[in-house]
Amino acid sequence: MIHINSNFLQLKPSYLFTEIVNRTRAYEQSHPESKVLRLGVGDVRGPLVPVVIEALHGAVDDLATVERFHGYGLEEGPQWLRQRVADFDYAPLGITLQADEVFISDGAGSDLGNLTDILDLGNRVAITDPVYPAYFDTNIMAGRTIDLLPCTPENDFCPALPEQTPDLIYLCSPNNPTGTAMTRSQLKMWVDFAREVHALIIFDGAYEAFIQSADVPHSIYEIDGAQECAIEVRSFSKTAGFTGVRCGYTVVPHALFGYSNTGERVELNPLWHRRVCTKYNGTSYIAERAGEAVLTDEGRRQNMERIAEYHHNADIIRSGLQQIGMQVYGGIDSPYIWTRTPGGMSSWQYFDHLLQTAQVVCTPGVGFGSQGEGFVRFSAFGLTSVAEQAIQRLQNSITL
Ligand code: PLP
Repeated sequence: MIHINSNFLQLKPSYLFTEIVNRTRAYEQSHPESKVLRLGVGDVRGPLVPVVIEALHGAVDDLATVERFHGYGLEEGPQWLRQRVADFDYAPLGITLQADEVFISDGAGSDLGNLTDILDLGNRVAITDPVYPAYFDTNIMAGRTIDLLPCTPENDFCPALPEQTPDLIYLCSPNNPTGTAMTRSQLKMWVDFAREVHALIIFDGAYEAFIQSADVPHSIYEIDGAQECAIEVRSFSKTAGFTGVRCGYTVVPHALFGYSNTGERVELNPLWHRRVCTKYNGTSYIAERAGEAVLTDEGRRQNMERIAEYHHNADIIRSGLQQIGMQVYGGIDSPYIWTRTPGGMSSWQYFDHLLQTAQVVCTPGVGFGSQGEGFVRFSAFGLTSVAEQAIQRLQNSITL
């Protein structure tokens, strides 16, 4: 008789985005004349930038020839791309990585979930709240004990060190959903702590390209000693609009060690390599070539133009909300603006209120954890004209 993994029964239903779609659709059906503006979604806008399109075409043309055809590649990614990541993304930050410390992936989402395969189920996990749901859910699926670390305006969205010593810590900076980012000293506090208690940090840098503040590190490895305690996960999804293309990478430094049941110190990099080679068959060659194009001066220039548009939208949303007296966080080093709901409304009450009074869709903060209750998230990934209209409507709905 086949038995299921009963941990799956412990998962809370993931209804956030379905519920947003359902409520929005119901409103549109009962108000067919309305033009609803969506500031909820965390997906990028197309099109991809020209250098990426050119690389994609080039890769397809390669596959059309006998000489340049690519079948199975290396599961961990080709040397040329692993080296390019080390040289282009890390060397300029003063970080020295060997190519074999970089694992090419199909985006951050899969590796964030899969990394825990190499870690014992008995590890105690510390996760920030509110949070990108994948860290929480994957550890629930595995049956690990989780301690939530509240991230609130009161602690500047940088959680206090936990009372219970964790073995595994998830940090996301710049953060989804709060849109805030950890400063050098905040991140150093966590790196020092992790080293002291021999914990592992999984650092999610999916929004690194949005960092503007000088005191926000682009990589956790900018902090001394982080290569001894942290895995960094990055993605081209938000950097270069690859949410549909699928390419990213995970850095597992050779300096990282864990302990076996018999107390032996074991290097994590070969364990992850073994896991990748067993359960993954490599990123698509086409996506890898596109990723390579992102890691060029021209690729960066073109993508940063798009990110500048998102920053501009975030400025419009931030300042517009501030003008109507809302308490606003994030939106500087991130495409997300996190706002306290007015008048003590719950996240969903304010969602409904905005939909009905301004025909604007946001994301209820409670969908990211209990500490998100009483907040909503606005996304700057849409068109500038949509951000402008939405703010205008919010301002009108307040003054009416
Ligand atoms: N990490 C964070 C914080 C995210 O917000 C997302 C997607 O929204 C991801 C990881 C996953 O990104 P992808 O799998 O597209 O690389």
